[in-house]
Amino acid sequence: MNDHVLITGGSRGIGAATVLEFARAGYDVAFTWNSREDAALDVVQQAQALNPGGRFVALHADVSDSAQVNAAVQEALQQFGSLQALICCAGIAQQKLFTDLTDEDWHRMMGVDLDGVFYACRAVLPGMIRQKYGRILLVSSMWGQTGGSCEVHYSAAKAGVIGLTKAVARELAPRGVRVNAVAPGFVETDMTAKLSEKARAATEEQIPLKRMARPEEVAGVVRFLASDAASYITGEVVRVDGGMAM
Ligand code: NAD
Repeated sequence: MNDHVLITGGSRGIGAATVLEFARAGYDVAFTWNSREDAALDVVQQAQALNPGGRFVALHADVSDSAQVNAAVQEALQQFGSLQALICCAGIAQQKLFTDLTDEDWHRMMGVDLDGVFYACRAVLPGMIRQKYGRILLVSSMWGQTGGSCEVHYSAAKAGVIGLTKAVARELAPRGVRVNAVAPGFVETDMTAKLSEKARAATEEQIPLKRMARPEEVAGVVRFLASDAASYITGEVVRVDGGMAM
């Protein structure tokens, strides 16, 4: 029987690359999309082409709404019977001076990037505890470790994800659940596509490997951490940043 994974934010960017990575590895994959159903259906087709025998399900959910997250988890459980892994990729970013941040900016960022992770972990854990087996992978950010100028709310939410990773890892380790995070630097997705040529060149100059990551380079690390090859790793935050934050 295939392992079953739920991935939030799977319709594009790092999330879509992660869906395809797990499809290639033989998992059945349920993933959430928020705004682009066409992109989600395209990812289902690509996954099915990679693994014709696998099951791939796209579910709509705004991760900042706990009822929608609970419904997506229940639907995934109904389709697959169990979930062995959860990967949280859904997220937003925003650049603004700290003193210009509104209450709404702050709460929206926390709602998607931190509350969304809490809701998804809380919803999958009872099943994982019952089956005494689970792997949770959370996508944080280099800015959650180092702090990013003009991204204070994003940095705070991503640092929160790291705290959540470590605390849940400690609490659930005796129940057979491993929890880890990745902290990407700059990755070629819609999130970084807004950078001007000049800003991009200046950014790449600061990265020891002199380029941004491809989404698949994050997805590969996520899959390793979810695999049994990482069976003794929990509470870890793996930098995937070309050496930028070392
Ligand atoms: P992206 O913009 O391409 O994808 C973001 C994903 O999150 C999309 O699938 C989108 O539908 C989903 N999403 C956004 N708001 C949502 C909501 N309210 N409910 C449900 N889903 C929602 O960006 P990406 O670069 O692929 O980002 C994926 C993750 O990686 C994010 O958590 C992001 O913070 C993190 N990250 C990205 C970079 C980077 O440089 N691109 C660096 C570090 C961390």
